[in-house]
Amino acid sequence: MSAPSVENVVIVGTGCAGLTAAIYTGRANLSPLVLEGPLPGGQLTTTSEVENFPGFPEGVDGFQLMDNLRKQATKFGTRFEQALVTSVDFTSFPRKLIAGDRTILAKTVIIATGASPRMTGIPGEKELYGGKGVTTCATCDGAFYRKMDVAVIGGGDSAAEEALFLTRFASKVYLVHRRDALRASKIMADRATSHPKIQCVWDSVPVAVEGVKEGAVSGLRVKHVKTNAESVLPVKGIFVAIGHVPNTGPFAPALDTDEGGYFKPAQGSQIQTKIPGVYVAGDCADHVYRQAITAAGMGCAAAIEAERWLAEHHS
Ligand code: NAP
Repeated sequence: MSAPSVENVVIVGTGCAGLTAAIYTGRANLSPLVLEGPLPGGQLTTTSEVENFPGFPEGVDGFQLMDNLRKQATKFGTRFEQALVTSVDFTSFPRKLIAGDRTILAKTVIIATGASPRMTGIPGEKELYGGKGVTTCATCDGAFYRKMDVAVIGGGDSAAEEALFLTRFASKVYLVHRRDALRASKIMADRATSHPKIQCVWDSVPVAVEGVKEGAVSGLRVKHVKTNAESVLPVKGIFVAIGHVPNTGPFAPALDTDEGGYFKPAQGSQIQTKIPGVYVAGDCADHVYRQAITAAGMGCAAAIEAERWLAEHHS
């Protein structure tokens, strides 16, 4: 059996960071291999309108934007393969990425695995996730709740955005937050709190999703944190919007991460890790900005660094 070939650049992830890195390394004639995970196109594919990506004064559909990036990457020779990386070995060269029974060898690696929605972990959430009433994406599932009451859990920009979006369909949207003020930016918070269809449920934490026996959400049990009084919001849909967890697990033993699980790049860099030729980009390494455009910028920087490193060490 012939030895597996060694890739110039392996990019893990197909969000804004990964695809931008692919466009740049593709244009540098490095023939990048992109490994595609469980959500091709990343988080933007679950967004409707992206209004703040520069160059689109009328806004752009999130799915369309990612499809365009993918076409652009393909045009410059990017190859895509579905592979879920489960572990890595960065102690030797070439670097090894393990995906099931496959080992992929690479001279340089750009990790752009993004972040996944954080879940509350309350009883019933897991059982009724998906088509049974618990979801993390109003854009994807909001239309199923026409003329019904729904709840959004969280107090950040995502929760405010989801709640506002849901007012297009739902009769009433409960916005359940554990404190008495939203974390969301003022403009989003004002829009949400003044919307006639949105009722804020302050100082309340979710305790259980009701309806497990019936196989569909019938309510959200919440507890007031000051009085400990429990009540059930009679909702058919529950939208969890309490932030994200970085997808760094399979790489964490080999690279440094912070207390939140985000990659911690080498000092003085945003993208360089402690392993030469291994870079991180996008939401898996950024808990501060977390924007499509900053992820794209990190992907670009990682690609340029990978190209320079290859030119210096392996030309
Ligand atoms: P976030 O800002 O981290 O907010 C998470 C919210 O969930 C917080 O209100 C937090 O409460 C609450 N929370 C966390 N864990 C919880 C738990 N276990 N139970 C109940 N509540 C919990 O996350 P995000 O809203 O996803 O936003 C992430 C970043 O993306 C932010 O920088 C945001 O500005 C940005 N973003 C921007 C836009 C936009 O500009 N249109 C849209 C979406 C997101 P506490 O407040 O008490 O901590």
